[in-house]
Amino acid sequence: MAPEGTGGRRRTGEDTPPAGGPPHHGRRPAAPRGCTGARRRRRGALPSLLPEPPEARVTRDADCLFCKIAGGEIPADVVRENEHTLAFRDISPQAPTHVLVVPRDHHRDVASLAAAAPGTLAELVRTAAAVAADEGIEAYRLVFNTGEQAGQSVFHVHGHVLGGRAMTWPPG
Ligand code: 5GP
Ligand code: ZN
Repeated sequence: MAPEGTGGRRRTGEDTPPAGGPPHHGRRPAAPRGCTGARRRRRGALPSLLPEPPEARVTRDADCLFCKIAGGEIPADVVRENEHTLAFRDISPQAPTHVLVVPRDHHRDVASLAAAAPGTLAELVRTAAAVAADEGIEAYRLVFNTGEQAGQSVFHVHGHVLGGRAMTWPPG
């Protein structure tokens, strides 16, 4: 399980790089002489998975409801929190367990979060699993509505952890 922060109000604004240095520096084996593979990788490999440069990152949106909840300006029934993520009960629950998991930093949807801070997205999923375990539910849905037509109404990425009742498929 991810280590929990103390008090949860600390903010770093970025993922902690793994021990041993940033993921895309220093780990690549040196390319053999004359090999252009490394050069090609630098130009084209998985650009969407690389973190955005710090200046491109928005960590807070003054008009965002979930930024305000994460910042403690608007109260919420918080069930779990750590340095990067927060979990709180949905104000209009659609199942016996209905908890929202959000990053403390502002990202408009799950794809934006994956591109900017994949480590935080992984932490969000671990937080969702921990919430389900706390609630004593074995089966749950983790839903990221993405875009208005899919039902997204708050544009700060959040996963709905839904459980405690039988669910049907397809969703409405
Ligand atoms: P979405 O429709 O964007 O996928 O989900 C937004 C969710 O936020 C909804 O399920 C809605 O009930 C919940 N929500 C909206 N305002 C508040 C609020 O002020 N506090 C809490 N805890 N949940 C909220
Ligand atoms: Zn926000």
